[in-house]
Amino acid sequence: MAALFNGVDPMTIKDLPLNKSEEILQKLIRTNTENPPGNEKDAVDVILDYFEKYDLEKNIIDHGDNRASLYLKIKGISDKSIAFIGHIDTVPVENKDGWELDPFDAKIVGDYIYGRGSADMKGGVAAMITAALHILDNNIIPKKTLYFCFTADEESGGLGAKALIKENILKNTEFIFIPEPTGCQLGLAEKGALWLKITAHGKPAHASMPDNGVNAIENIFSFISSLKNEILDDKKHYLLGKSSAEITTINGGIKTNIIPELAEATVDIRTIPGDKHDLIIEKANKLIEKFKEKSGVEIRIKIENNRPPLKVKENDDNIIKLKEIFADYKFNPNIKGLNFYTDASQIIPELNCPFVIFGPGEDSMAHQTNEKTKLKSVKETARVFLEYILR
Ligand SMILES: [Zn+2]
Repeated sequence: MAALFNGVDPMTIKDLPLNKSEEILQKLIRTNTENPPGNEKDAVDVILDYFEKYDLEKNIIDHGDNRASLYLKIKGISDKSIAFIGHIDTVPVENKDGWELDPFDAKIVGDYIYGRGSADMKGGVAAMITAALHILDNNIIPKKTLYFCFTADEESGGLGAKALIKENILKNTEFIFIPEPTGCQLGLAEKGALWLKITAHGKPAHASMPDNGVNAIENIFSFISSLKNEILDDKKHYLLGKSSAEITTINGGIKTNIIPELAEATVDIRTIPGDKHDLIIEKANKLIEKFKEKSGVEIRIKIENNRPPLKVKENDDNIIKLKEIFADYKFNPNIKGLNFYTDASQIIPELNCPFVIFGPGEDSMAHQTNEKTKLKSVKETARVFLEYILR
């Protein structure tokens, strides 16, 4: 016999009717929260409807313009807390004609549910709601206080995550779940992102006499190549592979026969644990000096996005506990790293606590046309949440 906790045998979770997650996910997908503009307040209303009859702390963070985040607090025996953080916005549907099914219809075909956000990450949010409802329906008082946080604007500036940090809501948190799509595998690391907007200011001249000018395009290209040489190496993280730096946009010049005075480029740098963004900026600033001395070009850098790489130790107690649950249910035991950043990149550095990225849907489905998620994986995720809470 498994030990009873608060009168609930955790093992009975195996027989739980978790089918409610289907209906919840359908409602969430049918509530359009493409960001921009977001309209996350509509999703907050859908979520609040489910919790109307329960007595628990419900806090809406209003961001204005029909945008809001929400956090629910289920008081536990201890003030120490576990937080579940899921974003309720989605990326926009770019190419509606390319979808075989309406992206906001939430049609179920076979094992899958289709729609914008089904993987990234309304599936994970539905699993959070399902788990919370189960706790409340069964009058379970969890050992630790539970926070279920539904954030706005993750796909852009991160309004919701920033508000959670600013209001210091998660100060007693000991472990964080981020149910982004990982195909129900445990995600123990994510790449950092450093986006640079680089401008070069040279001197125009007739292109037949290039020595009279300073070529902004030649210089910006050579600057970025030098920067890549300085910051990239063969170092590999066991889950994330190597860091990268890619020129993603470039503009400059006005005419074939004029040495360009101005050029502008953006570079998307993705980093692995151990890479320090401050050091990258420092190296870039030194190169700026060098280029100015050498050719007279004025280079400026603006940081457009700065999110550190993250990792959690495999021998962290929480991760060990999750691995045990995975083994009991014979879930895929492989761990993984995520190439993209999540809300964790804004929250973890502030709280400095262990975390896991774990949720239904494949990460390869995020932001894709015909986005879909296996319904079973939403239930599996809710199951793992409940086991973790109750064990
Ligand atoms: Zn996401």
